Amino acid sequence: MATVYNWQLGRAMTFPFEEKHPRRQFAFVFNINRCIGCQTCTMACKSTWTFSKGQEYMWWNNVESKPFGGYPQHWDAKLLAMLEAANPGRQYWKTAAADVGSKPYGTFEGKTIFEAAPLHIGPEEAQVALGYLPSDAEWRHPNIHEDTATGGRWNEGQHGASAELPEHRVWFFHLARICNHCTYPACLASCPRQAIYKRPEDGIVLIDQERCRGYRKCVEGCPYKKTLYRGTTRTSEKCVGCYPRIEGSDELLGSDGAPCETRCMSACVGKIRLQGLVAIAEDGTWSHDPANPLCFLIRERRVALPLYPQFGTEPNGFYIPPRWVPRGYLHQMFGPGVDHALEQYSCPDRELLAVLQLFRTQRQILFRFAIERGPKVAEVPVILPSGREKVQGPVHPEPIEQPEEQSGCAACPFHS
Ligand code: SF4
Ligand code: SF4
Repeated sequence: MATVYNWQLGRAMTFPFEEKHPRRQFAFVFNINRCIGCQTCTMACKSTWTFSKGQEYMWWNNVESKPFGGYPQHWDAKLLAMLEAANPGRQYWKTAAADVGSKPYGTFEGKTIFEAAPLHIGPEEAQVALGYLPSDAEWRHPNIHEDTATGGRWNEGQHGASAELPEHRVWFFHLARICNHCTYPACLASCPRQAIYKRPEDGIVLIDQERCRGYRKCVEGCPYKKTLYRGTTRTSEKCVGCYPRIEGSDELLGSDGAPCETRCMSACVGKIRLQGLVAIAEDGTWSHDPANPLCFLIRERRVALPLYPQFGTEPNGFYIPPRWVPRGYLHQMFGPGVDHALEQYSCPDRELLAVLQLFRTQRQILFRFAIERGPKVAEVPVILPSGREKVQGPVHPEPIEQPEEQSGCAACPFHS
């Protein structure tokens, strides 16, 4: 086992391979507050990649209703329980050590799936990453318990109280998911054939269909259950990040060579999605690039957070958490950055408000943004759910460094 640095955990961790990073990393932000659960993204993906025989139950993009739903059923609750069993009472974060640059959420003191694997005694062979193989029944329902709320005590007259922020007494939310094209992919680590690889140009994780023998160790190892087995070919398949679109080489889109967002992103009706590529330094740190919308939302303002960072794969999908959900549930799902993220989102400064407008239905990847300042319209004092007073709409005290080059393709890895 090698030792690698995981910035989301704020510490080094063990991983089967030496640390190595792509030049650019495929990444995305989903704003859960805006998802309406329409499944347009799901069908856009399905009609592009998984419409063939043997792929009937294969949903590379899925939208599940939390807290009860999951595809496969109970995927996250099961793995959380396995981690807790391997390291009882010690799966916690130390937030006092938070440092915006190297450990923005503090330090995770518990065990990742790679560190917990040797502690697990189960029916499987020795595992590289703690995990399990879902049963066929667990894959049957892509959105079981759709729109089923929890938390209500309807017979105690609490019906009217449910609309009060910060947390509703009755709640559910839609969680849209694709492969996170992780920095330390557990699917890749678990494959005994080394059939899975991460592309150096954009960090997209792919399965080589020629090498795959369908052992399903990747399905067992992926904590997000985003590799799926296809019985007709006896191989595993997964989200390919619509790589022809990312490369700008999809002939159906025209020949201008401009990189395009994936099918699920550009089809999103709720305009909850923003996808792109971020520059990665050789040591794995994100290049300081505040004019890239993803870097701005994830690293500068920390309004978007990784999904279950404690699993340890350093996922490159990030979420703006839903405001109305009990904080304990959100802390478990997105880590200790939740309170800061929600304070930012609930009461944004002018720059953040501007960048949030970039969530749209358009296929061109945005590598850069620039803000042109207009006259002040309003500055509104508000009291946050925490009781703290804040002003909505002021200019942020630190101006955003604007890039010299404003061309849309300036940071595109395929044209620079
Ligand atoms: S989400 Fe799963 S399938 Fe995707 S890269 Fe990470 S470990 Fe692999
Ligand atoms: S298309 Fe967008 S709004 Fe509709 S379910 Fe998918 S992510 Fe949510």
